[in-house]
Amino acid sequence: MRPVATADMIITNGAVLTMDPDLPRAAAVGIKDGRIIAVGSVDEISRLAGPGTEIIDAKGATVLPGFIESHMHLFIGGAELENLQLDGCADLDLLARELTAFAANRPDAPLLVGQGPDYGIFGDTAPRLVLDKILPGRPVALMAHDHHTVWANTAALEAAGVLHGLETSDGHEVVMGADGLATGALLEPEAYSPVMRLGGQERTMLGLASGREPDPAPSQAERAIDLAHLRRGLAHAAKHGITSIVNMDGNIYTLDLLEELRSAGELTARVRVPFHYVPEMKPENLQTALEMRARWSDEWLASGFVKFFMDGVIDSRTAFMKHDYPGQPGYRSHGRFAAETFAGLATRIDAMGLQIAVHAIGDAAVARVLDGYAAARTANGASGLRHRIEHLELVDDNDFARIAELDVIASVQPPHAPGCSGLPLEPTLSNIGRDRWSDAFAWQKIAGPGAAIALASDWPVSDISVLKGIHSAVTRTAWVPEVPDQRFSLEAALRGYTIGGAYAERSEAYKGSLEVGKVADLVILDRDIMAVADHDEIKDVAVVATICGGRVVFQAGA
Ligand SMILES: [Zn+2]
Repeated sequence: MRPVATADMIITNGAVLTMDPDLPRAAAVGIKDGRIIAVGSVDEISRLAGPGTEIIDAKGATVLPGFIESHMHLFIGGAELENLQLDGCADLDLLARELTAFAANRPDAPLLVGQGPDYGIFGDTAPRLVLDKILPGRPVALMAHDHHTVWANTAALEAAGVLHGLETSDGHEVVMGADGLATGALLEPEAYSPVMRLGGQERTMLGLASGREPDPAPSQAERAIDLAHLRRGLAHAAKHGITSIVNMDGNIYTLDLLEELRSAGELTARVRVPFHYVPEMKPENLQTALEMRARWSDEWLASGFVKFFMDGVIDSRTAFMKHDYPGQPGYRSHGRFAAETFAGLATRIDAMGLQIAVHAIGDAAVARVLDGYAAARTANGASGLRHRIEHLELVDDNDFARIAELDVIASVQPPHAPGCSGLPLEPTLSNIGRDRWSDAFAWQKIAGPGAAIALASDWPVSDISVLKGIHSAVTRTAWVPEVPDQRFSLEAALRGYTIGGAYAERSEAYKGSLEVGKVADLVILDRDIMAVADHDEIKDVAVVATICGGRVVFQAGA
């Protein structure tokens, strides 16, 4: 290696894991003008130092390519950091205490929003009635961790005009009780949006709920609130070593706001935002996806992909299954797009040169998406677009090999597996049914035939922490001994959050590994992660610094 220039920044004394097979390990990295100019030994790289070079001593700790978070929701997550955090709370007394204190500190809030209580917290009682006992006078809404269900009290349902029910499209539901009033369980965005609108966070939800633009256009004041949500979300991501974000909801408004942050020098991660296609749309709407790609396709802000939801989630029994849900003969939920409709859309979008990413959780949903991708391939030939499936929580035994065969990216969320990251086993396992457990969250069965893997948190569905995600990926235990071990190796998990993510977004030519010429996106940990003796310790590993585009965007203690 011959020094050619003076570096702006040198990271030295690191246990550098480059993700470059030609030079997997190194000790130092030189950076100039936002790109990597050298990777090598401490001696080699020190020759690039000049009077103005910033030297960062990694103190023997792991240095990695900046984490690529392949599936998350920046706008929603940023907004929700302000809500009451109830992660996994299953205790009604605790809920009552937290909610009462939260409400007392926010006497003027039009809607009190809590995040992530346990799915089973209300038992068999109507959620509305339980919440009424805690706070009868003020509108309350609790968002399930998976963002597919909201539970609201009477005041909220009344103020939103849904206490007596609401006409919704297929798959979305205001659940009604025997008394003719809403129980307070609101399934999917169309059902819960009227309630969430009371709190003014509906603009952050649009990209998920409908993919539409805010109408009327937000005022300057509203725009300022929304920019603050994104700033908060970006800072949260930077703190966790994330330098690239694949957002899984979107509209033009989201990219407009990010563009404003970029102009102000406040963009601390590279963000990709899709066009979200919902069943109510017509293929002509895909014109918007082309517009988004035309406006945003550089290394910092990009669109170029289309997001779909094929089904819901296992916990609310809206995931589309090949078998009847246990205890509900004849009920399998359904796909949100008919097989022919989806195949037609996939073929059309593939021909437009846009990537496709589809949320598919049940085995019937996964199969339908694979069928659509196969149809696109038959019609257009292999496009190299690397279409994706998000979640793949249950896969039919015949479909594991098809994922790899069709060059489909498997976008997997390690913290979503029941039992991981403090997630309860129920109701997920009972809803899957014991005879299907060995094909559920079956990471090794997906990866085994050679599918490309990208790992993610789905924040704010799960904790954004990549280290906690890696911890889940490598420490997950089998639910019962007869279910095979589905853990990832530590090496595979690290790849899934770096080069695997870059491959999934078709950007491995310029990021995802530490190689000369690639962007200077790096994360420095507080210890050598490969030397951690007990994998359980990985959850305690901290990010010391995050560098994006050669700029320090997070430094612990700073
Ligand atoms: Zn998601």
